[in-house]
Amino acid sequence: MLLDAKLHFEHDSQIVLAVMTDISGLVATQKELDHQATHDLLTGLLNRFGFQNRVEKRLVDCSSSDAYALIVIDLDHFKSINDIFGHQMGDSIIKILSKRIIENLPDDAVIARLGGDEFAVLIKGQIGGSTQGFDVSCCCRRIRACLSQSILIENRTMNLSGSLGVSYYPKDASSVNELLRNADIAMYRAKQMGRGTEYVFEHALQHEITEKARYEEILRRALEEDLVIVYYQPIIDLSSQAIVGAEALVRIKDPDTGNIVFPDSFISIAEETGLIIQLGEKVLQQSVEDIQKLRREFNNDFYVSVNFSNRQFQQDNLVTTVVSILEENNLPPASLLVELTESLLIQNNSQSHDVLTSLHDLGCKLAIDDFGTGYSALSYLNQFPIDILKIDRSFIANCESNLTDQSLVAAILNMSKGLELKVVAEGVENDFQKAFLLSKECHLGQGYLFSRPVPFDDFVRYIKNY
Ligand code: C2E
Ligand code: CA
Ligand code: CA
Repeated sequence: MLLDAKLHFEHDSQIVLAVMTDISGLVATQKELDHQATHDLLTGLLNRFGFQNRVEKRLVDCSSSDAYALIVIDLDHFKSINDIFGHQMGDSIIKILSKRIIENLPDDAVIARLGGDEFAVLIKGQIGGSTQGFDVSCCCRRIRACLSQSILIENRTMNLSGSLGVSYYPKDASSVNELLRNADIAMYRAKQMGRGTEYVFEHALQHEITEKARYEEILRRALEEDLVIVYYQPIIDLSSQAIVGAEALVRIKDPDTGNIVFPDSFISIAEETGLIIQLGEKVLQQSVEDIQKLRREFNNDFYVSVNFSNRQFQQDNLVTTVVSILEENNLPPASLLVELTESLLIQNNSQSHDVLTSLHDLGCKLAIDDFGTGYSALSYLNQFPIDILKIDRSFIANCESNLTDQSLVAAILNMSKGLELKVVAEGVENDFQKAFLLSKECHLGQGYLFSRPVPFDDFVRYIKNY
């Protein structure tokens, strides 16, 4: 093969000197390098770069009647396989599963390992073509089925699953990167929906992502700029009408508009990003300070009920933080009520068990929030030192018209008596509900009938005028 040719002139006579080099070796090396740059070493599939190139070509070459579906596949909880069984085992599983995926794809599909435990597949069809059109949902089902077949490896049987996100060309995106990004967004939604499922991209999702990013920014700034505010809602003794305590409910102030942002817009983001640790600490700090002021001014028995997210119990120093905040403010631990969710107890994780036991030993009270909405297994009530159940407001809201909810509330109250648990009814909005609760011997309640959650100063006025 000709690499180089030089013309050489000498005096009058013309001598042509041609230098010929065999570069087939070089070409092979170049090919090898190209292959490495575009393929994944472990599975031999295309890598992200190779996939992008290949898909781009397909999109450029396609006719106006062609359509494509891009599927992103992510294995569920794969990190724990690597953590528990090591990377070698993880690699073997990736290899097995990549073969299984290929077996379930049409011949002309493009497949890649994007990295880690993430794969991407491009399959072709025709817009509106019913006969030649692909059935994406059938393809997704097959992929999910092949991923969830058990894997026998080193004498172990493993059961995995995968979450899939789908986006369509040209409907959802006009470039490979956009297509990949949208399929990724859809895949995350599939994960949120409980994994082992698939989700098809829709533009509303994009809007949701933008909104989420906006609230994350508001939350970060609110934490930096001290714009976290705690509202209080009184907890009332239904028989004596006395205010016995308050639930602390967080809000943040939008740094740009000054508007109050409600927790439904940012708690899940705080949990996902880990900002809940910082936020939870601020809320605890503020509410312990505030309740101590109220105790000094009005009633030395007031307690404060603070919401804790599951994520906060994974933190190593939660107990130390709680202890130091209580000590700084001289608040007896019994005046702090920790509200947690049934899902935390169901996970039955030894760390949260230890933290809850320590908090309880310290003297704090533990309450299960939104009781009745989560799970029906009640065995955990024996395994954890719970003091209080807060009946979810959906039961109270319906108890006027719905006899089943009436009996459920009555049953919860009956059971609590046997287990010596106190009960707080949430969302008490009218006199009927209050009278019903009293007739069933529910002694504590909170809800709009008494007061909405209000800022601290308003709460002070509320108590003064009560
Ligand atoms: P939650 O703990 O169940 O709090 C009660 C929610 O019900 C509050 O909503 C409250 O405003 C509302 N509510 C109270 N009484 C009534 C009533 O009579 N009728 C109706 N319809 N609603 C009533 P909010 O303040 O928007 O809080 C929503 C959720 O955000 C809370 O539900 C809680 O899960 C979470 N949250 C609030 N503050 C914090 C916090 O500091 N940390 C954590 N981790 N979560 C928090
Ligand atoms: Ca609560
Ligand atoms: Ca609740």
